[in-house]
Amino acid sequence: MNSKKDIKILTQLLNLERVKVISHRQYQGVGIILQIESIKTESICPRCGIKSHRLHQNHRYIIKDLPLGEQQVFLEINKRQFKCDKCKKPFSEELNFVDSRRKYTKRLASQTIKEVLDSDIHSVAKKGCVTTEQIERMLKDAYKKSFFTKPLSLKRLGIDEIALVKGKGNYCAVLVDLDNSKLLAILPGRTQEIIKKVLKSWGEEVLQQIEEVSIDLWIGYKNLVSELIPNAQVVADRFHVMTQINKELDSVRKREKRNVEDSIKKTKSQLDKNKYEKILNGLKKSKYALLKNESNLNEEQKIKLEQVKEVSPTLKLMHELKEKIRIIF
Ligand SMILES: [Zn+2]
Repeated sequence: MNSKKDIKILTQLLNLERVKVISHRQYQGVGIILQIESIKTESICPRCGIKSHRLHQNHRYIIKDLPLGEQQVFLEINKRQFKCDKCKKPFSEELNFVDSRRKYTKRLASQTIKEVLDSDIHSVAKKGCVTTEQIERMLKDAYKKSFFTKPLSLKRLGIDEIALVKGKGNYCAVLVDLDNSKLLAILPGRTQEIIKKVLKSWGEEVLQQIEEVSIDLWIGYKNLVSELIPNAQVVADRFHVMTQINKELDSVRKREKRNVEDSIKKTKSQLDKNKYEKILNGLKKSKYALLKNESNLNEEQKIKLEQVKEVSPTLKLMHELKEKIRIIF
């Protein structure tokens, strides 16, 4: 099973610096467990800075890594303790892919944060790779790290927000460098006060050189930006505008479908029933035909789109407006 060739390929696939795979196991319904180890045979004592080769003890535990396709990936790591010849004391080696006392890799944390930025904590947790508590921990860690760094070469700032718990109005703001999609800060809330505090902490020098600020549709941010970053051109985040439009379009689609389903149940006339059934057939399975860019639709979806437009004048109008706006963007 664990031939040398397999191990070599797995090490390459894992793609973690200075780490090699020792063995792998796979459990149905659990995922893949890779036993890994640092390729270094020594570590530097944090007290005196001298290298030690003297292994004191092994400390093995399991952490989670990015999934591979639909499989969960666990790493059985060994955070070895060395004994320093000079200090005569043991110390733990630093592993650069995992933070102390965390049960997941750094890259899983940053990938998760990216996903949360695109949706919300609960939708990400629902996928089953990380728990809500872990995501909150990841955000807090990222916040602590981000708080101390000033984005000295920032030109285009994005102010976005993450829904902590969907529908509960619990949001936190995030600041992003749009030129390299780098997360600059995750804030403990989204009030003007909180954002102001962080922006001010960057100092005039940083704020003066920002040329563009992209914000979502929440108006509070706009006033704040005009006040603190006077040189910047404020743009509404295109992505957000499109998301908003698509959301609206989808909720109207759902509502129309519900209404017509109700009508079918209520009516006693067979003639009406047939009429409503026809509308319902047009509305059914129309989500992607409506939401996808019209130019990307396949033949089947194109036919579907025509059917929806035929049975619903409202959706027809909304869809046409959506496409117009998209083309402008
Ligand atoms: Zn030492």
